[in-house]
Amino acid sequence: MPTRPRTFRPSSGPGSDADRKARTQAYDRRRRAETETRALYGTARWQATRREQLRIEPLCRMCLALDVVTAAIVCDHVEPHRGDVVRFWSGPFQSLCVPCHDGAKQAEERAGR
Ligand SMILES: [Zn+2]
Repeated sequence: MPTRPRTFRPSSGPGSDADRKARTQAYDRRRRAETETRALYGTARWQATRREQLRIEPLCRMCLALDVVTAAIVCDHVEPHRGDVVRFWSGPFQSLCVPCHDGAKQAEERAGR
């Protein structure tokens, strides 16, 4: 009876079972942390933080850099918090309009800033 050849995996280092397991766990941990911090956006504390940021800086920072005056809607984390609760609350924050936040900002994060 034919049998499927065994998949070769190194016993240690990159590509090993231990390495794959560690990377999966790190990914899961980050995903879980990001889900938890996402829930923080619904809190009264975040609403107050956002309102204060937009009061201090009512115009979109990225538009302003291009000499365009746009009312800001989004309180954005200058450095991505990546699920870190301390960084989520401590900021620093910047005010952005929705197109700037959704476009330029996400592109920057994808580029691995
Ligand atoms: Zn803008």
